[in-house]
Amino acid sequence: MSDIQKRSDAVFIGNYSRYPVTLVSGKGCVVTDEDGRQYLDFLAGIAVCSLGHCHPDVSEAIQKQASELVHVSNLYYTTPQLELAERLVANSFADKVFFCNSGAEANEGAIKLARIHSAPGKYQIISLEGSFHGRTLAALAATGQPRFHQGFEPIPEGFVHAPFGDLAALETMISESTCAILCEPIQGESGVRPLDTEYLKGLRKLCDRHGLLLIFDEVQTGIGRSGRLFAYEHSGVIPDIMTLAKALANGLPMGAMLTTDAVAKSLLPGTHATTFGGNPVVAAAAVAVLDSMLAPGFLDGVALRGQYLQDQLAGLVPLYPELLEGVRGTGMLQALVLTEKGKTQGTEIVRAMLESGVLINFAGNAALRFAPPLIATEAEMDTVVEKLKVVLAGVS
Ligand SMILES: *Cc1c(COP(=O)(O)O)cnc(C)c1O
Repeated sequence: MSDIQKRSDAVFIGNYSRYPVTLVSGKGCVVTDEDGRQYLDFLAGIAVCSLGHCHPDVSEAIQKQASELVHVSNLYYTTPQLELAERLVANSFADKVFFCNSGAEANEGAIKLARIHSAPGKYQIISLEGSFHGRTLAALAATGQPRFHQGFEPIPEGFVHAPFGDLAALETMISESTCAILCEPIQGESGVRPLDTEYLKGLRKLCDRHGLLLIFDEVQTGIGRSGRLFAYEHSGVIPDIMTLAKALANGLPMGAMLTTDAVAKSLLPGTHATTFGGNPVVAAAAVAVLDSMLAPGFLDGVALRGQYLQDQLAGLVPLYPELLEGVRGTGMLQALVLTEKGKTQGTEIVRAMLESGVLINFAGNAALRFAPPLIATEAEMDTVVEKLKVVLAGVS
């Protein structure tokens, strides 16, 4: 264990189990540790550094803004957040935007908005089993994974979890008190599990029929990850509220909640706020991110290379049938689904990949997740797949 790791263990609360690596710099898809070892980063800070590490336009935007104005409070107007909001509105279903600092905070905002927008007595939100919406108490309550709730009871009221992908079961849970349905178009943390288009269309119909709001948590799938700017575009199903965070500012902490004019008007002055949300530096970074992603051809390239990655990963499945069950994902959010035997070795596989110079993770105790920077090349994907072959051969 290095000196930095020993000192860290002495002073940090132990809520993270970290790998024994101290990363000191990054460029593109490569990060470097304190000993000068390089790693291909196919996790990108968990779908955050989508333009790669230290993207020149983003770093320049941060530096420029940091020497002009860093923070003044949302009591005043600032231009970078306006430029960002205009871009988000112009490129999504939404008419209105609220900026915050994380995915959980964006979901808290969505939960509050859904409640205040709905008639008195309508407060309950239906989310899905296997979902992940963040660690703050309401976002945690929405999260449909009991293991994250343990020890934190009482969990805030007003949330129920429907079985994944079962529209009929969800419909039976709608009651007088329901105000919204919340889901990720592709569940990220439980192992990259997409909801199919028919299901999403069914949710929209249920919401329209029962007067409910449809909330899409695109914290992980949004901002280009799926090969479109937002994953909802694949299904054509339009939500009433959408939350964003992870890739929005390519690594600076930033979240956003987007909605329609009709819903936005319920959030009156004084009902919701955040100190740092949309400050000039993070907003300037996010403007640079969107300008890169909206450049002609960028997202098409993500879709094409995402398909390439999926094809290469699919090629491994028949080679290691005792470990691998299949591949699933969209764009550059891909997963190798592990068999029951494979699941017992997921942690070991990720660790062996790290030792061979590749960062990936084991999502939901179910699948190996690949979320490389969206700029990852086919050659970089080939390298990862070759190393994975060696690791899987060693494990099986
Ligand atoms: C990561 C994630 C969150 C939580 O985001 P934080 O920034 O960690 O609070 C919420 N929803 C989804 C789908 C996520 O992937």
